[in-house]
Amino acid sequence: MSVSNALIQKIETLTEANYDELFELHKHYHANPELTLLEFNTSVRQAEEYRKAGCDEVAFLAGTGVAALIKNGPGPTILYRNDHDALPIQEENEVSYRSTVPGVGHLCGHSTVPAISVGVARNLVALKEHWSGTALIVSQLGEESGDGARKMLRDGLYEKFPRPDMALAWHCSPTLPGGTVGIRKGPAMACAAHLDILIRGIGGHGGYPSQTKDPVVLAASIVMRLQTIVSREVNPLEPAVVTVGSFVTNSQKGTVIPSEVMLKLTVRCFSHDIYLQILAAIERICRGEAIAAGLPEALFPQVMPFSFFTESVYNDPALTTRLESVFVDYLGKEKVREEPAYTFAEDFAHYADGGQIPISFLWLGSVDPAKFDADGTPKEALPSLHSPRFLTHPPTTIRTGVNAMTVAMTELMKTAV
Ligand SMILES: [Zn+2]
Ligand SMILES: [Zn+2]
Repeated sequence: MSVSNALIQKIETLTEANYDELFELHKHYHANPELTLLEFNTSVRQAEEYRKAGCDEVAFLAGTGVAALIKNGPGPTILYRNDHDALPIQEENEVSYRSTVPGVGHLCGHSTVPAISVGVARNLVALKEHWSGTALIVSQLGEESGDGARKMLRDGLYEKFPRPDMALAWHCSPTLPGGTVGIRKGPAMACAAHLDILIRGIGGHGGYPSQTKDPVVLAASIVMRLQTIVSREVNPLEPAVVTVGSFVTNSQKGTVIPSEVMLKLTVRCFSHDIYLQILAAIERICRGEAIAAGLPEALFPQVMPFSFFTESVYNDPALTTRLESVFVDYLGKEKVREEPAYTFAEDFAHYADGGQIPISFLWLGSVDPAKFDADGTPKEALPSLHSPRFLTHPPTTIRTGVNAMTVAMTELMKTAV
C-alpha cells in the first residue's frame, strides 16, 4: 500500500474531531442558500472558516469567490475547487436544516462541498510535516451559471495566487452511495452552449392565414428539423444533444397569428468542432425552412448564440489514474467506481487554462447507503441533481470527502523520503 497507514489514521482522527463542526457548517449553508453570483454571506463565512483553519492567505475574487492558500515549502501547487451557489428551486426535503429561503435551495450539493473543503484545509494545516508544496483552495461563485470560474480567473486567480500544476474538484454524485468515489478518465462532462432563435413572420388574423406568414408553423418545422442534426449529421460515435426547451410567441390568442416566435436551445457535446458543426447546421436549417415558408430574406430567422457557455471537462488520464490508485489504496477497489461521461455541464474545465493544466473532476458518493440493496442496486428511484428532493447524506459524504481528498492531496505532495 503506497498510502501510509499511520498517516491515514492521523487524517481520520482529525476529520472525526472536526466532524460535528463541519456538519454544522453544512447545515448552516443548506438552510441559508444564496443564488448564483449573490453568495454574499456564504463567501464571507467561507473566508472566515479558511482563516480559522490556519490558511496563510485568504482573498475574495470576482466579488463572492474565495481563494485560500496554504504554503508549505517547495513542491507542486494543487488547486482544489468547491462551489457554493444555490439554485432557484423550492426544496422539498424534510430535514431540520431544509432551506429557509422560499424558492431557493442547495440541490446540487453546493452546501456540502464547501464544508468538506474546510475540513481538508484544517487537515492540511495540521499535517504539514507530511507534505510539501502549496494548496490553493477555491470556493467558487456562480457554478450554476457556468461563468464563476472564468470570473475568478479574470480577476487574477492565477496572478494573485500561484498558478497551479494541477486542479481537482469534488462534485456530489446523485447515484453513488456515500463512502464511494467515482472516477472518469478523459471526457467527463459535455460542453454546453445556449442559443436563442428569433423567428419572425407576418402576423394577422387567425381566420385569414393566407394574408400572413405564420411564424408558429415555421418555428414548428424548424424544431422538428433540428432533431435531425444529431441523428443524421453528427458522427454517431460522438455524443451530442440539441434540445429546444422554450417556444414562446407574442400572441396570447388562438385568433391571432403572431409576428414572432422565440426558441431557446441548449446544445451539448464533447468537442468544440462538433459544437461548430451543430451551430452551422442550426443556421442552415433556419435559413432553409424560411425559404420553404416563402419568407422575405429581411425576415429570415436570427440565430443568437450566447457567449460560449462552458468547455467540456476533460479529465487528464495520467493524473486521474494516479488519483484512482490512491483511492483504491485508501478505500478499497469496490468503493472506487468507474463513471460514464455525462451531458451535464460544468465550468471546472476553465481551470485547465486551455488544456495547459491537468485537471480531474471527481464524483463523491453522496446518497444514503441505506437506499441501496446489498448488490448495490438502488431500492427506489434516486433524485437527480437539481431535483427538489436531492439531498446528500452528511455522515458518509463529509467524512469520505474530507478524508479521501486529504489523502489524495498529501499523496500528490508527499514529502520526499
Ligand atoms: Zn453542482
Ligand atoms: Zn448544479
